[in-house]
Amino acid sequence: MFILILGAPGAGKGTQGEILQRRLGVPKITTGDILRAAVKAQTPLGVQAKKFMDEGKLVPDTLILDLIRQELAKPEAREGAVFDGFPRTAAQAQLVDKILAERGQRLNHILLLDVSEEELLRRVLGRALEQGRSDDSPEVIRTRLAVYQRDTAPLIAHYAQRGIVHRVPGTGGVEQIAEEIRRIIGR
Ligand code: ADP
Repeated sequence: MFILILGAPGAGKGTQGEILQRRLGVPKITTGDILRAAVKAQTPLGVQAKKFMDEGKLVPDTLILDLIRQELAKPEAREGAVFDGFPRTAAQAQLVDKILAERGQRLNHILLLDVSEEELLRRVLGRALEQGRSDDSPEVIRTRLAVYQRDTAPLIAHYAQRGIVHRVPGTGGVEQIAEEIRRIIGR
């Protein structure tokens, strides 16, 4: 089963993805984590990605498409995965669709975590104090929210045509949201 968790920065994708991954026994693929590790290790990808990430902009598809290909080709992702943080652009979505279709698979569910902009800002600013991520300054957070609205939110319409988008209220307790997701996907 392939599941995409979609939502703005701060919507809780990581938290719910973690719970889902454990419950379904499939890997969670998180492009943000992979990129942060690449930046830290100063790999060629990391060196190129860093300035986009620090500015809250998307890392260009020219760099991300290969990353997605590699992650989906891993044996542990053969039967299913939870996607967290990608696809984030139309080109990424097309690639994911194509790779899965070639394997006779498809995205089964899109879980759209719905949180108000005010709450998102509050959460991400709070997280900034705890984790000190370099892209968590108020200005950069605003850019990330705007980039989400411009580049990623349009994917909702793309997938909605297939009837696989489920809107999940992203406020309420972590357990309550996880339960709602369990109800939606039926496991
Ligand atoms: P958030 O959703 O909280 O903004 P992420 O950890 O998903 O955080 O992403 C952090 C940054 O990593 C993004 O602002 C972007 O620069 C980069 N990034 C992560 N995933 C992608 C992706 N699929 N395509 C392009 N850039 C990405």
